[in-house]
Amino acid sequence: AENRRESLMIVTGYAAKFFQESLWDTEEGKNIGLSYFKERGFSNDIIKKFELGYSPDQWEAFSSAAEKAGYQPEFMLESGLSVKRENGTLYDRYRGRVMFPIHSFTGRVIAFGGRTLKSDKNVPKYVNSPESEIYHKSNVLYGLFFAKKAIRDFDNCYLVEGYADVLSVFQAGIENVVASSGTSLTVEQIRLIGRLTKNITILYDGDAAGIKASLRGLDLILEEGLNVKVVSFPDGHDPDSYVRQVGSTAFKQHIEQNRQDFILYKTNILLKDAGTDPIRRAEVIREVVESIAKIPDSIKASVFIRECSHQMQIEERVLLTELNKMRLNKS
Ligand code: ATP
Ligand code: MN
Ligand code: MN
Ligand code: MN
Repeated sequence: AENRRESLMIVTGYAAKFFQESLWDTEEGKNIGLSYFKERGFSNDIIKKFELGYSPDQWEAFSSAAEKAGYQPEFMLESGLSVKRENGTLYDRYRGRVMFPIHSFTGRVIAFGGRTLKSDKNVPKYVNSPESEIYHKSNVLYGLFFAKKAIRDFDNCYLVEGYADVLSVFQAGIENVVASSGTSLTVEQIRLIGRLTKNITILYDGDAAGIKASLRGLDLILEEGLNVKVVSFPDGHDPDSYVRQVGSTAFKQHIEQNRQDFILYKTNILLKDAGTDPIRRAEVIREVVESIAKIPDSIKASVFIRECSHQMQIEERVLLTELNKMRLNKS
């Protein structure tokens, strides 16, 4: 099994080199891929550091090069780089896309995200590698290999949604940044971060729907005993588009000035949503206490109870009773 994993990583490593060469050394790659990255504001340094590439817009460019170079079809298929036709021949999964290699914790390329350059609604914007023996997407965070030192040094990890967000934020000088890449955050991913720091700061896209949808998922971080802060962005912006609009100095300032504790942030959003309706307000209170009940550290939990009692204008005693009930039910 270890041999198989190594064989797979040799193929994904070769593919990363192939896509990089095609980006830097072919006319198509330069004209289409590289100029796309340039338009998005990525520097040569960042493109090279993250080993970005380009997959030629042909059916078999990668597959036939890999076969000629002696790589085994079995591993090309298992890694998802090639797909088998009915007649047994192979074609490329990634064609005419800019390529974002996904690295393991130790820096090996284990998978790819490929972004289309078309704005056709019928074409998926990103195509990601399928699960394989070397790529379990729930255990991987995009950018972690490049971010881990800064995460330790700054004792904080910024969490964003997408590949481009990682690159832009990193390029702005904030190197402790990773992405969950479209999937909602898993316990495994939180534990990976938890080995480096107990502090996570969420920089999600600024669309209201996305924010509300992520609120419940973030309770998982509390449950793992980590501290969660949130920074929101103007509607319609993600960290990448925002840093490009305002520049890195103003971006950093925005983060410093808008960093909010997750629980207080959640309370705020839900309360605003509930308005003056007493029944809905009661539901909000219950939901917030539910989040607080997930914090393993009881001293921290009681501090939050106090804060929230102010914010919700409810007596602390009432919240504590509710908290204790929830705790009893859990154990
Ligand atoms: P870009 O800035 O390149 O347009 P984005 O990262 O802002 O893309 P979002 O739509 O915000 O794109 O999605 C966030 C992340 O979700 C993406 O970076 C990608 O990892 C994942 N994702 C988005 N669309 C798809 C898709 N169709 N299939 C698989 N993953 C996707
Ligand atoms: Mn989004
Ligand atoms: Mn974006
Ligand atoms: Mn986005």
